[in-house]
Amino acid sequence: MPSRIKEPIITLSAGPVAAYPSVLRAMSRPIQYDFDSWFQQFYEDVARKSATALRTAEPTLILQVEPAPAIEAAAASLISPDDVVLNLASGVYGKGFGYWSARYNKELVEIEVPYDEAIDPAQVAEAFRKRPDIKIVSLVHHDTPSGTINPAREIGKIVRDHDALLIVDAVSSFGGMDIHPEDCFADIFITGPGKCLGGAPGLTLMAVSDRAWKHIEANPKAPFASVLSLKDWKNAWSKDKPFPFTPSVAEINGLDGALDQYLNEGPEQVWRRHALTARACRAGIKAMGLDLWAKTESIASPTCTAVRVPAGMNDDEIIAAARAGFGVVFSSGRNDTKGKLIRIGHMGPVAEPIYATVAITALGGALRRLGRKVDVAAGVEAAMSVIEG
Ligand SMILES: *Cc1c(COP(=O)(O)O)cnc(C)c1O
Repeated sequence: MPSRIKEPIITLSAGPVAAYPSVLRAMSRPIQYDFDSWFQQFYEDVARKSATALRTAEPTLILQVEPAPAIEAAAASLISPDDVVLNLASGVYGKGFGYWSARYNKELVEIEVPYDEAIDPAQVAEAFRKRPDIKIVSLVHHDTPSGTINPAREIGKIVRDHDALLIVDAVSSFGGMDIHPEDCFADIFITGPGKCLGGAPGLTLMAVSDRAWKHIEANPKAPFASVLSLKDWKNAWSKDKPFPFTPSVAEINGLDGALDQYLNEGPEQVWRRHALTARACRAGIKAMGLDLWAKTESIASPTCTAVRVPAGMNDDEIIAAARAGFGVVFSSGRNDTKGKLIRIGHMGPVAEPIYATVAITALGGALRRLGRKVDVAAGVEAAMSVIEG
């Protein structure tokens, strides 16, 4: 039955994104039987290709769930009843991890900063001074509902120096900027195909260090034969090992296409166009007299620009005006950032500088439709001058 709602023309959401055409082609490949040797070899190849993208030696754990439940599985598997967990919260996802952690940990220690700021590594060092018994630290690299980036490497170094284990949620930054498990000392590093890799949502890529596997094996409460289990999937990458249950073959096909897209274009080039698009977008936002959500521009994400909702205006109305007037999709905030900001995604296929001018025109145009005076031309000009260097 045809929908009465017109499809978007351009999706500039904070993810999932409109996938690359090459991903869609990959997803239309034949659905192979998962016990057949062809598929078992193919799956191993995709797990190895994922590891190439993540720059790790071991084939990547591919979980058959979205990253949100996969992060819950990481908490359930890694955190034992003896563990003191330090949760770092600079946004909605960071805060959310604390609730999962609390189900499994002995004690939760939390550092929370205002959601337009980033975690300061000195706060983490101070936490270890006060509580040398911290065993696990959790960090969201890019807390997407705030569009801000945390200093993962600096924090990771401190965690490793204290011989603790680090979980990093890099779901909306990996593939769009220079972040990899080993550079930030992550013991569990979580990402997915549906954001900067420009793939389809529904899977999770997880890099798990040997230290983390040892901790999981020693955790008497680590789930098995469960959707929250990492152990079940530990060896599933191998063509000689069975799957715990049928993997989503079409999504594995799509992931393969997304990885090829990323590796063939070249990661550095992909990160460059994400960064340039975001920079052009921020220049345009400011030139229209609007404010960025991030307290300092240095922590603003290269994969998603969060714009403060102008005083007296309503985020849903602005987003609806951009959608109705121009067919352009933006994201709102979530939970504590809902109502306060509008998010413009620069992920995967739309991390191209020209989409910065699309975002500026659609956002500025929406504000004008709602009666606010906005200099759209100045915004576009500012974005163009960044693009033209
Ligand atoms: C998108 C995202 C997730 C996963 O959320 P889903 O609801 O599973 O898509 C997790 N963490 C961050 C930071 C994200 O941006």
